Amino acid sequence: MVLAGQVAVITGASRGIGRATALCLARAGARVVVNYVRQEQQAAEVVSEIEQNGGQALAVAGDVGDPEAARHIIETALLNFGQVDILVNNAGITRDSLAARLKADDWQAVITTNLSGVFNCCQAVLKTMMRQRRGRIINLSSIVGLLGNTGQANYAAAKAGVIGLTKSLAKELAPRGILVNAVAPGFIATEMTAALPETTRAELYRRIPLGRPGQAEEVAEVILFLASEASRYITGQVLVVDGGLTIAM
Ligand code: NAP
Repeated sequence: MVLAGQVAVITGASRGIGRATALCLARAGARVVVNYVRQEQQAAEVVSEIEQNGGQALAVAGDVGDPEAARHIIETALLNFGQVDILVNNAGITRDSLAARLKADDWQAVITTNLSGVFNCCQAVLKTMMRQRRGRIINLSSIVGLLGNTGQANYAAAKAGVIGLTKSLAKELAPRGILVNAVAPGFIATEMTAALPETTRAELYRRIPLGRPGQAEEVAEVILFLASEASRYITGQVLVVDGGLTIAM
């Protein structure tokens, strides 16, 4: 129970990596806020799974791209649990298209959710963490933010932005005892990647040195490490979780 007594807010925790992270951090003893934007039923199922395992959790709706909603998520966590020790900025979307055809709305939607959403939640939690003189912020980037990707100019720009934001906040907040890191997953089996055509997935598996997609739980365990005391001397870093994909490219 390495997170006993702590409170974690996880954005986009109704499914995929966020869901696995909520379950993992709850198993480690944290009380968990399960944020979602649309899938109320799935978020409720994550909460009840945590409760069935003897943990405490609360589902909170809110679009992270809206600063007001981001403040509401954090305020609800504080109201119900009294503190926020860990923020995992996981909510994310894709709107893939080749750049020449990318619609302005699809550019903006991805930047708003995947980059501004991270900033909004960080800003909403900072006063609390600075007062506590302690906190962990873990932001979901992607190997696409490191390498770029055809058809994902919006997503790559947002995920590269998350890395710049992570490093800047890490510098600003280290004197306050707040550690800020990013995780950059490669190809993880979730609804987000299930949308890719079968041939694209097969080609990707072939290029991953470990020969298979990652599981959401394998990212969640790295997030748990970054949330725990074991990582107390790590800040401003990007941990790549990709089965070796980036070294093979
Ligand atoms: P996913 O299965 O598509 O789940 C996305 C989650 O984000 C859902 O819980 C969704 O909530 C939530 N969400 C979407 N827009 C939101 C908003 N505006 N406000 C609040 N919540 C919002 O995604 P995933 O594959 O688990 O990915 C999680 C994170 O890891 C994302 O940031 C993604 O970019 C990153 N990542 C994933 C992979 C991968 O291979 N899967 C690789 C690299 C990075 P609802 O259920 O309510 O819609």
